[in-house]
Amino acid sequence: MTDLPEGIRAEFRRALERERDRLLESIAFLTEAQRILAESQAAEGSVGGTEADIATDVNAQTLEASLGNAERERLAEVEEALERLKDGRYGRCVDCGGPIELERLQVLPWTPFCVRCALRRAGSDVRKISTA
Ligand SMILES: [Zn+2]
Repeated sequence: MTDLPEGIRAEFRRALERERDRLLESIAFLTEAQRILAESQAAEGSVGGTEADIATDVNAQTLEASLGNAERERLAEVEEALERLKDGRYGRCVDCGGPIELERLQVLPWTPFCVRCALRRAGSDVRKISTA
């Protein structure tokens, strides 16, 4: 397998664009939620909220900030995958240059790594599953 058939590439492009749109919407929503939260905290601060209120707000804010980061990271991966689709590198592992398993792309269309490289990066023992 060298290049993915055009039909399959188009399918992945659609899946990636859908995921990008979903992430952009979600990030916009989280950004807005954080803004509202910051505003309500500022308002509470001026009238003097209880300490418990403040702790709850801070936890919610931290949670939303970390969710937002995960979405932004995924968005970057999706955009890089769309770039690779455009210049013909899509479907190849950016680490070893080998083909990424089709089954893997169907589950994670934005992944830049084949299973072996992903596992190696995750720190697993690849010797057991190595076919080389
Ligand atoms: Zn690889």
